[in-house]
Amino acid sequence: MTERAPLTRKPTLSKKLSAIAESATLKVDAKAKALQAAGRPVISFAAGEPDFATPQFIVDAAAAALHDPANFRYTPAAGLPVLREAIAAKTLQDSGLAVDPSQIIVTNGGKQAVYQAFQAVVNPGDEVLLPAPYWTTYPEAIALADGVPVEVFAGADQNYKVTVEQLEAARTDRTTALVFVSPSNPTGAVYTPDETRAIGAWALEHGIWVISDEIYQNLVYPSTGSGQPGDASALTRAVSIVEAVPELAGQTILVNGVAKTYAMTGWRLGWMVGPKDAIKVAANLQSHLCSNVNNIAQLAALAALTGPQDEAEQFRLAFDRRRRLIVSELAKIEGVTVPTPLGAFYVYPDVRGLLGREWRGKTPTTSLELADLILEEVEVAAVPGEAFGPSGYLRLSYALGDDALLEGVRRMQELFT
Ligand code: PMP
Repeated sequence: MTERAPLTRKPTLSKKLSAIAESATLKVDAKAKALQAAGRPVISFAAGEPDFATPQFIVDAAAAALHDPANFRYTPAAGLPVLREAIAAKTLQDSGLAVDPSQIIVTNGGKQAVYQAFQAVVNPGDEVLLPAPYWTTYPEAIALADGVPVEVFAGADQNYKVTVEQLEAARTDRTTALVFVSPSNPTGAVYTPDETRAIGAWALEHGIWVISDEIYQNLVYPSTGSGQPGDASALTRAVSIVEAVPELAGQTILVNGVAKTYAMTGWRLGWMVGPKDAIKVAANLQSHLCSNVNNIAQLAALAALTGPQDEAEQFRLAFDRRRRLIVSELAKIEGVTVPTPLGAFYVYPDVRGLLGREWRGKTPTTSLELADLILEEVEVAAVPGEAFGPSGYLRLSYALGDDALLEGVRRMQELFT
């Protein structure tokens, strides 16, 4: 036997992947869940998911799908034709855009749609305008496409909504795409139809792709009024950017899914809609990446989109009630500024007024330190603003029961008095 020469080169990891940070929201949520599992009475505002069970008729549709041998097989990578038809109908109804099912790809959650959207339109070095605070996945997905995220920050004073002037100031000849998320994660901000139209017209004028994430489209609340069923006063609607500016459809990719509206986060079912050429390249990618999404989840999503919508409406009403509760309770803490969110299930208080002050012997100077303090001292989990852009903010999800919600905020009120 010949002896092997000693290794001179160590195997290394991909630089691109090594540069990716773990999802901060999942990390905080996992920490809270681990403490809960260890018996600690932690109240978590960290999760980005509804606390409801998926409606039974959707579960039943999935159970029935399990008994059809056709679902044991590979199906078209871009999705079951019947589901793509249903998604086309939903896109027309909720986003005001008529599309052919061939312009749709069913993905493993909206997250995969986000990833594929950037892969489809970004070339190395291209700049992608990213309104901040942003959902934590965006910068990583842009970087994975070799793009450069360019943050455009809008604070509580502008209800976390960027203006055309800000976008224009950030535009260069490398600007390829804009991320537009309304309602927004993490802030719950919803752009008005006029604001949406202005941004859409600007993107159209400059030939900029828009990646419009509409995953919270069906979770929108009244800006005023009681929020009681039947009281539609000042009901806000998140007008799709392609409805506001129809000519923009040729350069817009819509991202959506069933996770948030139907309490289906674990089913992993989303989709992307776009012009044929972009969808074609993204579908080619998906055909090599993962092929079709689980057929059972696809048929569950079909039931969700085509079945009765009253349970989803009940979820929305419950979120609206909790939204009012959490905003009014957080506002009682001196040093906290809380713009009223109009969509999704997050509230994004500006907590800079709490920083640099002493609380139980500690003086947090960043929202990261503040979130740690809150978890350690009163066992309440919230995601620090650093996960979404600048320090100085907390994201609290109000997708948890009313009692837990009240108890959690009460503990924070007690800590900061
Ligand atoms: N977009 C936004 C803005 C989100 O908040 C999320 C979930 N946190 C997603 C997309 C992805 O959702 P999913 O992959 O669960 O469908």
